[in-house]
Amino acid sequence: MATQEMPAGSPTGLVLNIQHFCTDDGPGIRTTVFLKRCSLRCKWCSNPESINRRPELAYDISKCIGKKACGRCLQPPFPEGAMYVIDGPDDRVHVNWDLAGECGQECAAACPTGALHVFGQEMTVDQVLEEVDQDSAFYDESGGGITLSGGECLLQPDFSAALLAGAHERGITTAIETAGNVPWRFMEQVLPHVDTMLHDHKLTDPERHRKWCGAPNTRILENFKKAYETFPDIRFIARTPLIPGVNDDEDHIRSVLAFIRPHKNVVDYQLLPYHRYGESKYAFLGRVYELEDFTPPSPDTMHRLQAIIDEAFGRSSQTAERRPDGGAEPGTAR
Ligand code: SF4
Repeated sequence: MATQEMPAGSPTGLVLNIQHFCTDDGPGIRTTVFLKRCSLRCKWCSNPESINRRPELAYDISKCIGKKACGRCLQPPFPEGAMYVIDGPDDRVHVNWDLAGECGQECAAACPTGALHVFGQEMTVDQVLEEVDQDSAFYDESGGGITLSGGECLLQPDFSAALLAGAHERGITTAIETAGNVPWRFMEQVLPHVDTMLHDHKLTDPERHRKWCGAPNTRILENFKKAYETFPDIRFIARTPLIPGVNDDEDHIRSVLAFIRPHKNVVDYQLLPYHRYGESKYAFLGRVYELEDFTPPSPDTMHRLQAIIDEAFGRSSQTAERRPDGGAEPGTAR
């Protein structure tokens, strides 16, 4: 995603990244637009750079060439003391995250090696659609389109609604990935422009949901129920990021099935196995990854829980035939 001039008059949003040729984010081949800002703090989050509501500095020390060879970040525009060197043979810099927090693109641009990077960039609806439109030949062939993800894309409702409406005007199908922890009015504003909604059921118990995700699930479940009932033409796909020892139990799966099965527009329920692909990003952002001892769920657990879902949906096996949404096989936990 290249930095671009912003045309006047088009709504803007804070975009983390635009990823092309995605096959796990809804039907067909999709272009996924990741937006910044999230109202949950799931401990397994693999996109921690998407959480903050502002552009955010990240630092990869392995790319730093050191004070003697460079040292540009030890001078303005960096705030005084934001970057420092420890006395000794290794003259690579370190970050004081309290002081470097407000650094923006100007700071990152000063670094010649890419060791410093800023996650998040203001973009207009038109700029995003221009990039998304480049993949339109693949949408036509595969039944794909645009997917908004995050972060929580519903926390930028004006931008998301305008983006999805603009996609529809260009004949591009739309999907969103949401955790649903937003005011209902945000959901109500965006969903008229959505064809497929992938939505997370992370934990059943509100207090355990608060412990692992930073907020209870009461509002989330109210929103999902209202969405199923208010928007009968949307294809809803429920998903659970499966975290061993947290929610990989039959009770949770059965409780989600009891919640979704009365609603015929919930066309599938997918399990996304836990992974650690996002772990290194925590260090780049000056944060701690808390699930160091966690491992992905075993194939046996996946099969056992998948069989419960297949039975509830009246399917006999885990084949593409079983997917009433016609979409891709599910991906991994975000
Ligand atoms: S500007 Fe980049 S490469 Fe140069 S010292 Fe700072 S972090 Fe290292």
